[in-house]
Amino acid sequence: MINLYKPQMYYKDIYHINYNLLKKKKIKYLIFDLDNTIADCKTNKPSKEMITLFKKLQKDGFTTYIMSNAFKKRVNTFANYLNTKYYYLSLKPLKITFKRLINENNLKIQEIAMIGDEIYTDIKGANKIGILSILVDRLTKHDYFLTKISRIRENNLFKKTNIIKRGEYYE
Ligand SMILES: [Mg+2]
Repeated sequence: MINLYKPQMYYKDIYHINYNLLKKKKIKYLIFDLDNTIADCKTNKPSKEMITLFKKLQKDGFTTYIMSNAFKKRVNTFANYLNTKYYYLSLKPLKITFKRLINENNLKIQEIAMIGDEIYTDIKGANKIGILSILVDRLTKHDYFLTKISRIRENNLFKKTNIIKRGEYYE
């Protein structure tokens, strides 16, 4: 069971991800979580750095997606700035939206990576489907209510197991 919660890679944030290594692993599609991965919950649009990063990734041949459990309006705004197809109210860690994204866009499981800050939604969902799971540290301590509950579970998981240690990044 524990393996479902173990990210395959772990980085400080999305700027530190070794995208060249992902290329070598034949990853072509990057699914990003939104809140606390791309932006903190109190921000309504992506930073210039974020827009630059997405442009670079797209220029380098990656196709980007945003998959978020947040409402449409919020996800839509970010996706427009980042020129990225998006999925909202995605019910991660359930498989339903992962499957929809994969089918609609005709993707191969082994060519996709999911990047997110939450073990119980992003990482568990990705591991269940079998796509590469990449954990990043959350951007801020501000969380929505449901995420707060998920954090308590996460902290317990970290205490009771040694699946990862905060700040000990690996790839
Ligand atoms: Mg998040």
